[in-house]
Amino acid sequence: MVAAIEIVELTQSLIKCPSVTPADAGALDVLQGALETLGFVCYRLPFREDNTGTVDNLYARLGSGSPNFCYAGHTDVVPPGDIADWSYAPFEASVKDGLIYGRGAVDMKGAIAAFVVATKKFLDCLSDDNRTLSGSISLLITGDEEGAAINGTKKVLGWLHEHGETLDHCLVGEPTNRAELGDMVKIGRRGSLNAEITVKGVQGHVAYPEAATNPIRGLTTILSALQSHSFDDGTENFQTSNLEVTSVDVGNEATNVIPAYASARLNIRFGDGQDSSSLSHWIRNLCDTYAKDYNLDVRISGEAFLTPPGAFTRIVSSAVEEVSGTMPTLSTSGGTSAARFIKDICPVVEFGLVGRTMHKVDECVSISDLEMLSGVYRSVLERYFLKINK
Ligand SMILES: [Zn+2]
Repeated sequence: MVAAIEIVELTQSLIKCPSVTPADAGALDVLQGALETLGFVCYRLPFREDNTGTVDNLYARLGSGSPNFCYAGHTDVVPPGDIADWSYAPFEASVKDGLIYGRGAVDMKGAIAAFVVATKKFLDCLSDDNRTLSGSISLLITGDEEGAAINGTKKVLGWLHEHGETLDHCLVGEPTNRAELGDMVKIGRRGSLNAEITVKGVQGHVAYPEAATNPIRGLTTILSALQSHSFDDGTENFQTSNLEVTSVDVGNEATNVIPAYASARLNIRFGDGQDSSSLSHWIRNLCDTYAKDYNLDVRISGEAFLTPPGAFTRIVSSAVEEVSGTMPTLSTSGGTSAARFIKDICPVVEFGLVGRTMHKVDECVSISDLEMLSGVYRSVLERYFLKINK
């Protein structure tokens, strides 16, 4: 029995599963059902750590030959916020005026559906010509992208390695376009570093400062030095690195008390002119200089990386241009994605839907964009496997 696989219906079925991280709510079952219909062998890979809930993931592969072309993405979504603010309920996948509304419509259930339909059409076309797939198509779909990303792509890549599975090239389907489908392909991402600095002082009466130590003085001096630093003017493929202080906390409700501690959080988005270890050293040196007693906690979300423009980026750009009529900009802008883990395994490029409504109330995708994206993905498969250069 071969069930019909249709783009609007598959997008709707996925949106109807309220898969707010770490819940799966049946989303991977929907996807697995469609992929098994196409002949994919599916592996469900649930992972957990002591302090986290279990997160389910899916690796599916069609064919056993190489090259193995992998499509990566996630079925988890961010919470909808106050449901009363939505024009259409976030998990009902209502269609209105050519738009499908729902959490995950553009980030990124619609894109996953577009890839599944593209694969189906590509395979149909091969069988019409009595040809077989020369290589493999795989999907790496995680349920832990919008959360801590501890039990998702990173662990699936570990599992692939243990099981001798290799990926040759990867396309990530995150929303990459800003205004129109076709305007942007991502060929790398900036690195991201989060730091929390807590300067400790000695609490006391403001009228007797000699008997206290004000931690705010040290903290503000450190923050001022951090914020006045100029990193770089950007590099060939990366915009200027940037530091933002995201929170300053003292927890002092009194007007006559010097507080015992002062803390701040900050984030640095950095290009390939920087790396996390030199940035960490720089922050620690400033803390050593301006604070006697402090605690510094640095967490690295990912290093900056680049897939240099070449044969693989050309396949994706040409497919985008063929279908959308626009030659996309190759960019490294925006936040981090699962590509930061995959880049250690194989070249990775990202192209998906238009991100304008992602993570917002009334997230929606236009059906014409879904169809166009599916056309782009199909063209990528043709160019990749059949070496067709249209
Ligand atoms: Zn996403």
